[in-house]
Amino acid sequence: MSRVPFSFELHPPRNERVAAELPSRIARLVAAGPDFVSVTYGAGGSSREASLDVLKHLIATHPRVRAMAHLTCVGSTFAQAGQTVREFLAAGVRSFLAVRGDPPADAPEGFAAGEIKTGAELVQLIHRIQSEYAPYRESAVPGLRARAVDPERREEVTIAVAAFPNGHPRSHSPSQDIDTLLAKQAAGANLAITQLFFHAEDYFRLVRRAREAGVEFPILPGIMPITSPARLHRMLELSGEDVPADLAVALEVEPTEEGRREIGIRHAADLARRLIEGGAPGIHLYTLNQHEAPLAVLERAGLIDAAVSG
Ligand code: FAD
Repeated sequence: MSRVPFSFELHPPRNERVAAELPSRIARLVAAGPDFVSVTYGAGGSSREASLDVLKHLIATHPRVRAMAHLTCVGSTFAQAGQTVREFLAAGVRSFLAVRGDPPADAPEGFAAGEIKTGAELVQLIHRIQSEYAPYRESAVPGLRARAVDPERREEVTIAVAAFPNGHPRSHSPSQDIDTLLAKQAAGANLAITQLFFHAEDYFRLVRRAREAGVEFPILPGIMPITSPARLHRMLELSGEDVPADLAVALEVEPTEEGRREIGIRHAADLARRLIEGGAPGIHLYTLNQHEAPLAVLERAGLIDAAVSG
C-alpha cells in the first residue's frame, strides 16, 4: 500500500508548563513523518505571538516539515489582516489555513465583525499578498552562477480552508455549506480540512456533494481521539456536533482512565481506517498538543510503524 499522508494540528501553549513540554512533543510527532503540522490562531488575534512562536520553532527545528499557520479574520480590518499575513510570510510560513473565526462568546449585540467577513475573503487576501511577496520560483541559469526568475513557475503555496461534514452551525442548509466551499475555491483555496466528526458516512456525503457541485481541491478529514467523557462534551460544545451515542456510552461506563484511553484510540483508528478505505486523501489529527494518543491512532490504523508511535 502506498503511504497515506497524515498531518497534525497544534495549539499555541496556554501556560509555561505546556510551553516547556511542547518542543519534545512536537519532535515525537514530527518523527512520525507528517505531511504538515498546523498551528491554530486565536480569533481576534489573541494568540498571534504564541502561534507565531510555535511556527518559528517548527521552521527552525524541523525545516523538512511544512508549517501551516491558521489565520482568522473576525473583527479585523483589511490592513490588520494584511499586516499579519506579511509578518507570517516574513517568518517563513508558506502554508495557511484561512478561517473566519468566531466572535467572542460574550460579544455584545451588534459586535463589529470587521471588514473581512468570511473565510473566502481571507483566502483572497492571503493569495494576493502571497503572490506579491514570493511570486515566482528561481532556477539556475545553465553555465552561469546567476539564478533567473521563472515567470511560469510560481512558488507552490497551500491555502487551506475549513469544511463541515455535518454543516456549519450557522449555515441554513447543506447547499449553503457547499456554496461556501465553492466560494473558497474561487478565492484560491487549494485544500480543505474538516471539522471533527464521528461517522465516516458524514465525510463521504460532504465529499460527494462537493464534487457534484464542482469543488476540486482535496478534502482532508479531521479526527480526534476522544479519551474521556469530559473531553467529548467539550469538543461537542465547541464543534456543535451531535453526541455519538456509542462512544459516549462506552466512555461513561468504562471505570478506568487506561480503558477510556483505549476506547478513544480504537474509535478514532477505526474511523481513520474506514476513511482511507473509502478514498480519503489522508488523515488530519487534532492532537490537543498530545503525542501518545494521535500516534497510537495512526499506528492502529496502519499508517505508521509501531517503532515510531512507541
Ligand atoms: P465561513 O466560510 O466564512 O462561514 C462558515 C459558514 O457559516 C458557511 O456555511 C456560511 O455560509 C455560514 N455563515 C457565515 N456567516 C453567516 C451568517 N452571518 N449567517 C448565517 N450563516 C453564516 N477558529 C479559530 O478561531 N482559530 C483557528 O485556528 C481555527 N481553526 C479551525 C480549523 C478547522 C479545520 C476548522 C474546521 C475550524 C477552525 N476554526 C478556527 C473554527 C472556525 O473559525 C469557525 O468554525 C467559523 O465559525 C467558521 O469559519 P469559516 O472560515 O468556515 O467561515
